[in-house]
Amino acid sequence: MSPYFLRAATGPAQFPRGTLPEVAVAGRSNVGKSSLINTLLGCRDLAKTSRTPGRTQAIVFFSVDDRWLLVDLPGYGYAKVPEAVRRQWRPLVEAYLAGRETLRLLLLLIDIRRDVGEEERDLVSWLSHRGIPWLPVLTKADKLSRSRALTRRRELMGQLPGGGAGEPVLFSARTGEGKKKLGDTIPIFLQNKAQ
Ligand code: GDP
Repeated sequence: MSPYFLRAATGPAQFPRGTLPEVAVAGRSNVGKSSLINTLLGCRDLAKTSRTPGRTQAIVFFSVDDRWLLVDLPGYGYAKVPEAVRRQWRPLVEAYLAGRETLRLLLLLIDIRRDVGEEERDLVSWLSHRGIPWLPVLTKADKLSRSRALTRRRELMGQLPGGGAGEPVLFSARTGEGKKKLGDTIPIFLQNKAQ
């Protein structure tokens, strides 16, 4: 796989204009988003882990094999971010989700130890409204025993509104669990036509 940083966009004018299909990744700050992106793309530090919160919110586009784009949506829920920066999140992400015809799938990352929050429920109703397929990914699965992880998956499925594109994927950047599952699933969605 040969991924590279394409661009960071702080507004719709900077979104890439091509026709390549896209998979977006969203989640609360510290959920393990950068670690997942690096694991999926097979790079140690393409998506920077633990970026300092507080800077301008941006959507980051990575090109993969010049065939599809992986889109890193800004994390939400930073406790320490100034209100002015926090307010940028919604319009930026909504501008992306509302008009992005090349978007084929959104991976919604949830820390397996946390409950589904208001932000996730908001995002999911938005996606469902727009007909954008989304798939829950439960991160840091290595932090729990197998049986506890499976129990948490059932609990979290109960907390999410229906309409996800499949049962939540257990993922760990530490052990590599879930990498193959996502690697097999993403191409299926990339082949889909726009809704
Ligand atoms: P982001 O803020 O969502 O981009 O999250 P990061 O990828 O920077 O990860 C946040 C913290 O969680 C870091 O300390 C990571 O080392 C840790 N982390 C990320 N993924 C995993 C995982 O799969 N297992 C464990 N145990 N820790 C993880």
